[in-house]
Amino acid sequence: MSWSKEDKINIMGIILDRLDYNGALERIANFLESGGLKVIVTPNAEIIMAAQTNEKLRRAVNSADIRFPDGIGVVLASRIIGKPLYGRTAGYDLMERILDMAAQRNLSVFLLGGRPKVAEEAATNIKLKFPGIAIAGTHHGYFDDNEEKAIVEKINSSGADILLVAMGAPRQELFMMTNRSSLQCTLAMGVGGSLDVLAGRVRRAPVFMQKAGLEWLYRLATQPARIKRMSVLPLFLIEVVLYKLKQRG
Ligand code: UDP
Repeated sequence: MSWSKEDKINIMGIILDRLDYNGALERIANFLESGGLKVIVTPNAEIIMAAQTNEKLRRAVNSADIRFPDGIGVVLASRIIGKPLYGRTAGYDLMERILDMAAQRNLSVFLLGGRPKVAEEAATNIKLKFPGIAIAGTHHGYFDDNEEKAIVEKINSSGADILLVAMGAPRQELFMMTNRSSLQCTLAMGVGGSLDVLAGRVRRAPVFMQKAGLEWLYRLATQPARIKRMSVLPLFLIEVVLYKLKQRG
């Protein structure tokens, strides 16, 4: 798929790049050659809803270099808006492809986020799954604002090429936006709860459910406490319909 600069979708003020995995990887390969930090975010229904009332989050998402669509909610929204996405994509799957690319190109990765020990456990499993990959360093995601500068220094002195920020939204997006000018890596990506999955602490939905666009249902079934957070999905679709109707006048 060739990528055109204009291939974007605006969902209630949040810009998504209309990219599939290959399109995103093509752009990432270019980023790795161009130097300077590039930021990847993966907006899903929950993030778009949160950004309606969180102006900083909206700016952090819209100012990123790749806004990669995450989940079935944004696929449905893109259909309502009349600019369908190429299909359901997941931030987790893009992250795995980036790890694969890192292993092929001898790039090093820093893992930031999760509860203490999670990033280390994820690092062990990443090294098994992507032989040859270099893990430059790890740090948990429960630190105070006044520790942030020291953490950025730790990331920089590790010499990492790629930073995965797994602190959930909006914390990870704001961290990347705030520290954009001081981080010295080439790529930073917000990956939500992905380190928990890589560490083997949380399971992803089986592939048949992912393919059916039912990953959210699996999450709900296995983590029922998320019901309040997830009730945002139907609300999101209603808001997108209202937004579309308003645009049509
Ligand atoms: N987290 C963190 N620091 C915080 C809050 C959360 O590192 O201050 C981590 C948390 O341990 C979890 C991830 O961020 O691993 C967020 O997971 P969640 O399932 O909410 O993210 P999602 O994948 O739904 O975006």
